[in-house]
Amino acid sequence: MDLGRLLRRTNAYRIVKNDKKRGLFHAYLLLDKDEKYLRDTLKFFAKIILCGQDGCGECRVCRLVEKENYADAVFFPKNGDKILTEDIGALVADSFVRPLEGDKKLYVVVGAQNMLPAAQNKLLKTLEEPPENVVILMGATNPYALLPTIRSRVKTLEIPPFTEEEIVNELAESCPDREKLALAAACGDGTVGRAEELYGDVQLQRRFDLAAEIIVNMNSSKDVLKYSALLLKNRDDSGRLFSIAESLFRDMLAERTGGKAIDALALEKVRKAANYTTGALINALEKTEEAAKRASAFNANETMLTEWWLFAILEGKHRWQK
Ligand SMILES: [Zn+2]
Repeated sequence: MDLGRLLRRTNAYRIVKNDKKRGLFHAYLLLDKDEKYLRDTLKFFAKIILCGQDGCGECRVCRLVEKENYADAVFFPKNGDKILTEDIGALVADSFVRPLEGDKKLYVVVGAQNMLPAAQNKLLKTLEEPPENVVILMGATNPYALLPTIRSRVKTLEIPPFTEEEIVNELAESCPDREKLALAAACGDGTVGRAEELYGDVQLQRRFDLAAEIIVNMNSSKDVLKYSALLLKNRDDSGRLFSIAESLFRDMLAERTGGKAIDALALEKVRKAANYTTGALINALEKTEEAAKRASAFNANETMLTEWWLFAILEGKHRWQK
């Protein structure tokens, strides 16, 4: 898989490349839903910023950045941990030290959405009065945890969802089962990381069929009982099933409102679920997002959550009838 090949197609790439020619901003916020590859994506941009060429990947700087060993590129947090307020303290203190190798220093903050308000406030002063030759590159999976004062002082770059086709092409080698890969890409959220994770799920097809069946056939409280019993038979199901259902509802809604549905293949299977009004779809999507979030909480009660989710969708179908 060559993440760079996908990233070079983004506007974010064109923007950073242009800025490099005309003068870089002192701080960027890269929004990327792909938590798994966020660090690698930030590395890709770090290379563009620091490499003598265009982030060639071959030169000494690129190779050192790849290993997080380049003196003028400092990554926070150091390992897979969440970013701490101490990390931001270290960043701020270090930003006054001149670059050692090149003409600028780059700070890469991975998972900026995890910064506590105290850390953000600490960083804010540096963003307001950045030391010379310092560039801060933050990467976040969602922007809402960041203070508006932070967001207003950075240039935002967005990694858009990739198409099913782009993901399938990129993962074809590492995920040889074409049919399964197509399904994984279709059920995902337009990120490579999520598609890989779904591909690794041995029960993907069964979960997908069940999610699609629930969406299409659930019309009464009897169905709720039937499906909750089915879901609970496989205790690990609900979280994964919720996120597959979430991507299906999102696509149904996108299609309904004239937007672009990412997953054409997945949509085909639920298209006949025509008894959802737009209101019912919005409700179903919201409730499914909430269920997916709650399922990842460590003390989630699976039985209650599953029934709550099924009833919430059904109730929406009745409330927003045609
Ligand atoms: Zn290079």
